[in-house]
Amino acid sequence: MSSSLEGHVALVTGAGSGIGRATARALASAGASVAVAGRRVDRLEELRDELEAEGGTVLVLELDVTDEQAVGAAVRSAVETLGRLDILVNNAGLMLLGPVENADTTDWTRMMDTNVMGLMYTTHAALPELIRNQGTIVQISSIAARVVGRGSAVYNATKFAVNGFSEGLRQEVTERGVRVVVIEPGTVETELREHITHAPSKAAIAERVAKIRQLQSEDIAAAVLYAVTAPPHATVNEIFIRPTDQA
Ligand code: NDP
Repeated sequence: MSSSLEGHVALVTGAGSGIGRATARALASAGASVAVAGRRVDRLEELRDELEAEGGTVLVLELDVTDEQAVGAAVRSAVETLGRLDILVNNAGLMLLGPVENADTTDWTRMMDTNVMGLMYTTHAALPELIRNQGTIVQISSIAARVVGRGSAVYNATKFAVNGFSEGLRQEVTERGVRVVVIEPGTVETELREHITHAPSKAAIAERVAKIRQLQSEDIAAAVLYAVTAPPHATVNEIFIRPTDQA
């Protein structure tokens, strides 16, 4: 194990699958103690067992990021149990693609509550501790914050919100030594698209991604690790990473 994050504590939301899981693994491999949060505790416990078998320190936190009280309790629990908090990775998210016309607006509420409010609640709850420790906040945004596609208006809106919020936050905290990093992945091979409720959109994206070599969660985890292990005086503000085959 490399030890570049030895003594550091990280909290990763949505760590039970995909990018969050790979990121928790990468941070633990670099020596950080990691609090892994999400709703599916069985997935998190499996990850904890795997990382602890390799010598890591892992705390499982059952958490729905849309519940502000629960977010506060999870952050407190991470700090109390692991001693401090240096790195927050706001990764939990949903991508429920579909046209605006005739949309099931419960999809919109779920995405706004998770991708925007959940990310902001977690940032808000962790910020005092991150300011105290001159920590790093990593937002898993998306290519959808930079490139708008037909049938993706509300997902685009959530990720534009993430980038706007993060730039405002950066200006507020950077001179106090807190680093705000925005990662914008293109297509990554994960469970994300399995949750789409609009059948034609789900079929269309499946057809699109079948033609390309998708990014893997480990590619994004490597980008997160690069940003959080930069020297304290350097902030990697933004990483936009697309599959080579994604035009
Ligand atoms: P996954 O579906 O594998 O991961 C999403 C994670 O978010 C799950 O582990 C899920 O865990 C968690 N989650 C969802 N809702 C909540 C909630 N209310 N509270 C807590 N956790 C929640 O997909 P990805 O790994 O791809 O997605 C991770 C992030 O990456 C998302 O923000 C997504 O927008 C972003 N992204 C993904 C891309 C891709 O192509 N895959 C491209 C660009 C960005 P659980 O259900 O257990 O709570």
